[in-house]
Amino acid sequence: MTVPHHRGTAPTGPSRRSVLAAAGLTAAGMAFQGSLGASGAAAATAPAIFYSPHQDDEAIGMAGSILEHKAAGRPVYLVLVSKGENGGIAEYLNRTPCVLGDKCSAPGHYHELGWQETGATPEVVSARTSEFNLSAKALGVDKVINFKLADSAYGTDSEYDAFVKQIMGKVRALAAKYPGASHKFTAGWLDTTDPARPTNATHKACSDAAYWLIKNGELKDVRFNHIYTYEAFSRDQRDRGADHVLHIPSSHMAKKRASILAYNTWDPKRNLYTAGYHSVPTMLEEAYNDPREFVYALPSRYKPGRGK
Ligand SMILES: [Zn+2]
Ligand SMILES: [Zn+2]
Repeated sequence: MTVPHHRGTAPTGPSRRSVLAAAGLTAAGMAFQGSLGASGAAAATAPAIFYSPHQDDEAIGMAGSILEHKAAGRPVYLVLVSKGENGGIAEYLNRTPCVLGDKCSAPGHYHELGWQETGATPEVVSARTSEFNLSAKALGVDKVINFKLADSAYGTDSEYDAFVKQIMGKVRALAAKYPGASHKFTAGWLDTTDPARPTNATHKACSDAAYWLIKNGELKDVRFNHIYTYEAFSRDQRDRGADHVLHIPSSHMAKKRASILAYNTWDPKRNLYTAGYHSVPTMLEEAYNDPREFVYALPSRYKPGRGK
């Protein structure tokens, strides 16, 4: 099943009834304590801060956890870490016929946008960020924070290290501003240990930033969601090694799907060009159809660095 197309329809808000039903389900599930983290009720008014490396990661692998925290009464802040520069998306959207064929939601599957394909890719960054903001709205987060960091995770080793330090600086500032907050990153190390699996240096840089801040005693309540599992593993393998599998209640899954649809909405008037779906169609489809998220604590034998 593919992700349905959207042409210009904004996700609708939750009904009061679905919000109440979601709260009831989450309260029952709180015995797990897995993804809600250590602070639980003690820091009920401190925010849970989710760090999405790119526009789309929050929809694919964090949306259920975001909604779980909201239902538990926690304010949720959603951070976009990198600008999301991506020449590949520009190449796809500059080209007709589309690589997605009939799955492409542009009218007539036609798009010759003439976007910049190298360097800062400003149109891609702008369109992806419009999708991110629409996704954040669908999830009802309390605050959106954009670090606007140029993604140098794929540069030289020293550029990678500098990128990790930039993330650390920004996270440190949020930790100081919001004492008692819990911090949720991507489990980037899981994408780099197996050569047969997808590699994403930006996701690893986010994990590394969390690792050093935990090691320095600057962050305490930290969890990691695995994003690429939806693409790397078949459905029956995705929970292997996870410290906690979040089973997303159907009322939350409806909102998660609305957030995924933000990445498959063609509406140029709103600067929406299905950039996400032209980037990671498989992951968006798999996450759309799998009502689970996979949550990890920091492994005891964590290895910082970009790796291969
Ligand atoms: Zn990503
Ligand atoms: Zn297309």
